[in-house]
Amino acid sequence: MTDTALLAAALAAIAGGLAALAWTRSRRRGERGDRFRTSPHYTQGLHYLTAGQLEPAISELTKVTREEPGAVDVVQVLSHLLREAGQVEKAILLHQGLLARGDLTRAERAYVLAALGTDFRKAGFLDRATRAYAEALEVDPRNLQALVGQQKLHEEQGQWQEAYEVQTRLARLRKTDDSLVLAHLQAELGREALRAGRRETAEAAFKAALALHRRVFPAHLGLADLFAESDPRRAAAILEDAIAAAPERAYLAFEPLARAYTACREPSRFAAVCERLIRQDPRDWRARVALARQLRAEGKPEESLGLLLRAVEANPQVLLVHLEAWRTLRALGVVGEAEARYVAVAEESAFYVDPHICTACRYRADDMLWRCPHCHEWDTFVEERLGPAAGR
Ligand SMILES: [Zn+2]
Repeated sequence: MTDTALLAAALAAIAGGLAALAWTRSRRRGERGDRFRTSPHYTQGLHYLTAGQLEPAISELTKVTREEPGAVDVVQVLSHLLREAGQVEKAILLHQGLLARGDLTRAERAYVLAALGTDFRKAGFLDRATRAYAEALEVDPRNLQALVGQQKLHEEQGQWQEAYEVQTRLARLRKTDDSLVLAHLQAELGREALRAGRRETAEAAFKAALALHRRVFPAHLGLADLFAESDPRRAAAILEDAIAAAPERAYLAFEPLARAYTACREPSRFAAVCERLIRQDPRDWRARVALARQLRAEGKPEESLGLLLRAVEANPQVLLVHLEAWRTLRALGVVGEAEARYVAVAEESAFYVDPHICTACRYRADDMLWRCPHCHEWDTFVEERLGPAAGR
């Protein structure tokens, strides 16, 4: 491995980017500014970089660029590190300095413009980021970094149609199967249309999402929502499909499904769905809790408690199961005033009642999220009890 490749690999490990590799591949080797390789600061910087020590690596590489301003590779890597370290302003200055040089190849110029776009995006200057990505793509329409940045920019601004178009281009260029992300983007388009009351557009978008990927749960939910009032039988069938496609997410369909069955005057079908899910997966505490709730509402608290006790045995760490058991005990009338006070305090102070976690970056949320607000990946959330290792 050459030291440039090592530098790129170390950077990729730290910054999580393929960008540096693309950069070094695009370089004409050994033509200019290669004297930096003999600098002790360069060797030391590489050493820190491989050890994952960001700050000392930045300090050493900064010294290299002062000694040798022509070391374009080093400037580029350094600006990535600065961005990762939160020093975006310095990264912007370095990238602008590179662009002022007259000796960059087209690929290099596109690459630096794309990196500058990402600097601006991270700094919150969305207009400037948009312009930098567009310029990068004018110089090199196949620049993947600019396309990825542009796509993220559209997502961050809720521009789902534009995000979908760029993602389609990316999938074609990279020859990757992005159907899951594309399906989620269609589902977002559908949700947006639904909120605006454009029902036909919403229906078309949800159907397009499901044609791309059957496991995209929000598309099933949205489609069922469209028919909830006009055709509850159809809504129920859509939700049953959703559960068949992704049984581990069945709980997200419970509320609308129970409503749909009630609207069809067949409320007992909901219990049958829960029972089937419990048979399929005896650890499915959500189906037990849902069934227990229904039994309590039907005035059968003893049966409800029986189910909940089995759920506690199977998943003692799940707070929601305990909360539900307390409520059922209250309905049974066996809770005294002191216990009731304790339960009320516990209910109020419970934090992360229903923890979900991103399998990509371990971000936690108290709900199912379709797009991670931290790492921006789609469909990475699982119930925390499953653990990231058990993710799809
Ligand atoms: Zn994440």
